[in-house]
Amino acid sequence: MLTRSDFEKLDATDDLASFREEFLLPEGVVYLDGNSLGALPKASASRAEQVVRREWGQDLIKSWNKAGWVSLSERIGDKIAALIGAAPGEVVACDATGINLYKALGMALSLRPERKKILVEGSNFPTDLYVTQGLVQQLDRGHEIVYAEHEEILDAITEEVAVVSLIHVHYKTGRLLDMKAITEKAHAVGALVIWDLCHSAGAVPVDLNGCRADFAVGCGYKYLNGGPGAPGFIFVARRHQGQAIQPLTGWFGHEAPFEFHRDYRPAKTIRQMLTGTQPIVSLSLLEEGVDILGRADMNKIRRKSSLMGDLFVQLVEEQLDGFGFELASPRAAEKRGSQVSLRHEQGYAIMQALIAENIIGDFRAPDIVRFGFTPLYLRYVDIWDAVAGLRRVMEQKLWDLPDYQAKAAVT
Ligand SMILES: *Cc1c(COP(=O)(O)O)cnc(C)c1O
Repeated sequence: MLTRSDFEKLDATDDLASFREEFLLPEGVVYLDGNSLGALPKASASRAEQVVRREWGQDLIKSWNKAGWVSLSERIGDKIAALIGAAPGEVVACDATGINLYKALGMALSLRPERKKILVEGSNFPTDLYVTQGLVQQLDRGHEIVYAEHEEILDAITEEVAVVSLIHVHYKTGRLLDMKAITEKAHAVGALVIWDLCHSAGAVPVDLNGCRADFAVGCGYKYLNGGPGAPGFIFVARRHQGQAIQPLTGWFGHEAPFEFHRDYRPAKTIRQMLTGTQPIVSLSLLEEGVDILGRADMNKIRRKSSLMGDLFVQLVEEQLDGFGFELASPRAAEKRGSQVSLRHEQGYAIMQALIAENIIGDFRAPDIVRFGFTPLYLRYVDIWDAVAGLRRVMEQKLWDLPDYQAKAAVT
């Protein structure tokens, strides 16, 4: 049986431990929801002050040049590229993930005009599905969405498929797909692949170019710690740049935006994926989050988060036997991202009671409670304390209060 002192010992030799100092975390809170909203880097608070008071307040419009606002999306894109196995000039930071997916999918489909099938997982994050359904409707060119789950994906990739669009780490279960095998299979039949890295970027090592990925999108506010509503990012492999245009053709994607031409001429670079003016304050905060990750070793992050996941699962088995939990994530660390999910029919109320104990995870309908592991600011003892809290909630039936049954707008 594990004890709390096993966890204290792991913390004492943890070579990522010092990163916790770079975040502002509330006293006494165990935060296991960095997969939904990353914690606040200390540097972001001072950067916000600088961007708002000096760059905006004092320098006003001069900051577009002087502070480099005009190329901030590309500068941060290059930094994110280093985290996901892409090259400089292949990533820009901008827009919400859904919008970036719309652009990537539109571009990918126009690279395969003769093919009509788009392969997705039906259990994918809803916005990815909605955006795909919306684009198909807008294009009105007879595209068909084919739904396949996990083990069915490889066989469903046929010569009729134009684009395969998948989440690398599943948002509910944490299951990790084999990016290399799926991309290879798609290319073997002439299809293109879009990878959604929302739960991968900053959480697991990703090697887009090593896998010859075509397109990717991802989130800035989860493991990149960019802040609420932070812009996401989009990756287009160099070989596809300048080959087709994306559907949201705004002035920032024009070859020469400040010549104000009547007619659209796409930039031949990653800048073509931009549409309009980006939220500079949010982008600036994203840069601080990305910079912290840039200084951390992604393999160490992976090792720590895998061990945290394994220990969490072991503790759940040792401490919560008989309380009705079922593991919803893969048992093997190499098959999961940086989270562990449990199923329980009272999942929502249990999570509410746990949050009242200052242990924060989240709930995904119908019955999943999620626990995200963010090695940069979590300690091993947090894992012990989280499961101890969960045991208290179950033993004392703390979840069984009417207040905890009523669902809030955000779960
Ligand atoms: C978090 C998440 C999103 C978020 O989409 P936005 O458009 O940025 O709100 C999309 N897809 C997946 C898989 C996610 O996990």
